[in-house]
Amino acid sequence: RQAAYAKLRDVQPVSLDGKRVTVMINAGLRDDMPMLNVTGADGIGLFRTEFQFLVAAALPQRDRQTRLYRDVLDAAGDKPVIFRTVDIGGDKALPYLREDDRENDENPAMGWRALRLALEREGLLKAQARALLEASAGRTLNVMFPLVSEPWEFDAARAVFEAQRQFLKKQKKLLPEAINYGVMLEVPALAEMLDIMLPKLSFISIGTNDLTQFLFAADRANPKLAERYDWLNPSILRFMRRVVKAADEAGVAVGVCGEMGGRRLEALALLGIGIRRLSITPAAVGPIKELVCKTNLADIAEAMEGWLANPPANLRAEVQQWALDHGL
Ligand code: PEP
Ligand code: MG
Repeated sequence: RQAAYAKLRDVQPVSLDGKRVTVMINAGLRDDMPMLNVTGADGIGLFRTEFQFLVAAALPQRDRQTRLYRDVLDAAGDKPVIFRTVDIGGDKALPYLREDDRENDENPAMGWRALRLALEREGLLKAQARALLEASAGRTLNVMFPLVSEPWEFDAARAVFEAQRQFLKKQKKLLPEAINYGVMLEVPALAEMLDIMLPKLSFISIGTNDLTQFLFAADRANPKLAERYDWLNPSILRFMRRVVKAADEAGVAVGVCGEMGGRRLEALALLGIGIRRLSITPAAVGPIKELVCKTNLADIAEAMEGWLANPPANLRAEVQQWALDHGL
């Protein structure tokens, strides 16, 4: 396995028709950082900051957060890191949160979690904003917010970061050279507001794990539904294609950071709807780079156009056959 990594580490993911695809990895702990060099990925497309909270016995103090983020940025060197603010609450309830902050919701995935919780427990978001800003002093901070459902939630979260930036400026502290703000597109309602959202954003990252469960009203953790709601389904691909088109037209970078992007046929379908940035599990980087190198993106786009216009009974079978016919 290590040998396979080594062979593909220095391979540039450039398609047969000469398009460079960005392949990044998902991470959440200091220990994940060596995978950047092992895989030769382009950066960290999703750093799940809640991992530090989930493995701790008490709420991590701000300076501990700062240290983690600084270590992560140091380890990444010139490669970009996209930090996601905490996605806790719901089923990722923290035992050390106040009793009334723990969700006993019947539908935790749709409950009081992620940015919803962070905007109401503003101390938590403020501390995280300050930690991220301080850790990014003199460099670029890329930050995105999870489970944004409406534009005002993004505005409110950004305002918390901007207020902390002003505070640090008054203190004459070294600031980040630039801040790029983004959202995770996980809640379908947000896709209806892209005309309002896109001008505010540097990037969008589609979280297909949550997006799929909300589009199909199908719990992502329920094994009885796992086979039934396939990622290679015309409705999810049509939905995402609209998002990609709108983002491309607005000149806003759009990528996928859900598990879908790390699977061969799914990644092929994503390339076919115009996705050019993937953030995936480290073990998938080599195989996905190889897939990109052997694919003509214009050809898969044309095939996908046909399938989405006239959906076949079994899209997975069609994509599988296409892959075989094209030596993939
Ligand atoms: C997603 O929902 O696709 C995602 C990447 O976030 P998480 O899996 O952490 O909810
Ligand atoms: Mg998610």
